Amino acid sequence: MNETPTAIELAETVEVAPGAYAYVQPNGTWFINNTGFIVGDDGVILIDTCSTEARTRAMLDAVRAVSDAPIRTVVNTHHHGDHTHGNYLTAPAPIVAHQRCRELVAGLGIDHYPTAFEQPDWGDLELAPPTMTFDDRLDLWVGGRAVELHHIGPIAHTTNDVVAWLPDDRVLYTGDLVFHQGTPFVLMGSVDGSLASLDTMREMDPAVVVPGHGPVCGVEVFDEIERYLRFVRSTAEHALANGLTPLDAARDTDLGEFASLTDPERIVGNLHRCMADLQGPDTEMSIVAAIGDMITYSGKPLLPCSA
Ligand SMILES: [Zn+2]
Repeated sequence: MNETPTAIELAETVEVAPGAYAYVQPNGTWFINNTGFIVGDDGVILIDTCSTEARTRAMLDAVRAVSDAPIRTVVNTHHHGDHTHGNYLTAPAPIVAHQRCRELVAGLGIDHYPTAFEQPDWGDLELAPPTMTFDDRLDLWVGGRAVELHHIGPIAHTTNDVVAWLPDDRVLYTGDLVFHQGTPFVLMGSVDGSLASLDTMREMDPAVVVPGHGPVCGVEVFDEIERYLRFVRSTAEHALANGLTPLDAARDTDLGEFASLTDPERIVGNLHRCMADLQGPDTEMSIVAAIGDMITYSGKPLLPCSA
């Protein structure tokens, strides 16, 4: 394609506590996610897979570079394809997720989003929904260490967000409840629910936060996300008071400190969601129309996905 290094070439394995790792793919934009893995003598727990076959294979190679113990369990933090497309490459490990994650992965299938994104080389993706589901809490064990799975709900980034928490090391794998250096995205979730999720995660008092996208960080990221979500909410209130569409409201607003985050066009999708929610729970909102408006705002398909 070009001289720019790909997400795979830039990917880094970061040890965030003894035996606990983040696999970080810069720059964390659309479909460039992080995963995590926790290693014990008897096996590995993997948190999320990647969006393409090549990215997932490279990530699994990075896991094997640390440990040749088998992957015992895979966790999906939510249903989005960048965290679940590679599930099929982890067989025969059970894939654990919130029950609505399974419903959505199984129901939506593999979507290549041809109208929204420049197309990466997806590879030969095969649908592999979660095989083991829970509602609220589940503990996994590896090498005598607990990995607590908590559903953070009812709705935040999506309807099925799960965090993985290492209580002894105070490491929190957040999935997409945290975008670090990227624009939060709640089109399929809720601004108010995402604000509530920040309080829940603050109460856990993590020493290390492994975000769903972007570099490993600390709790200061929660304040950054809160400022952005409150900005979305006030922009949505202003738009409703002035009869603006989400797209017009986004074009009218100055992103200020948030302009430097990756994927600023998410303001449009976030406004679609927030304005609908502010008008009441039965307000219709079209995800397809919202994504169309994000492309219009951006002036081009979202993101070149350098595979
Ligand atoms: Zn997501």
